[in-house]
Amino acid sequence: MAIYEYRCEQDGTFEITRPVGSAPKTMACPVCEGEARRVFSAPMLTSIPHSLVAARDHEEKTRHEPDVVTSLPSTGARKRQAMLPLTPTLRRLPRP
Ligand SMILES: [Zn+2]
Repeated sequence: MAIYEYRCEQDGTFEITRPVGSAPKTMACPVCEGEARRVFSAPMLTSIPHSLVAARDHEEKTRHEPDVVTSLPSTGARKRQAMLPLTPTLRRLPRP
């Protein structure tokens, strides 16, 4: 189980306990029953490594607020390489 936090514009934040990954985007405020949006903050979890918590939070957040990429990642740019080392037979084949 995890504790999810929601914020009502009028009444502030409140928390609900739900199974991990099942938090809806909005909840009814317990005070005014208006729409309260989910707040993404460090959840109160036990026995789950921090890196997994961060990855799950990011995954849930991107369902509603996808990350916008404006440029290619600077790391990860690698030269293309042959999938397998060329055998002498394959080397004789014509190349483009
Ligand atoms: Zn409210």
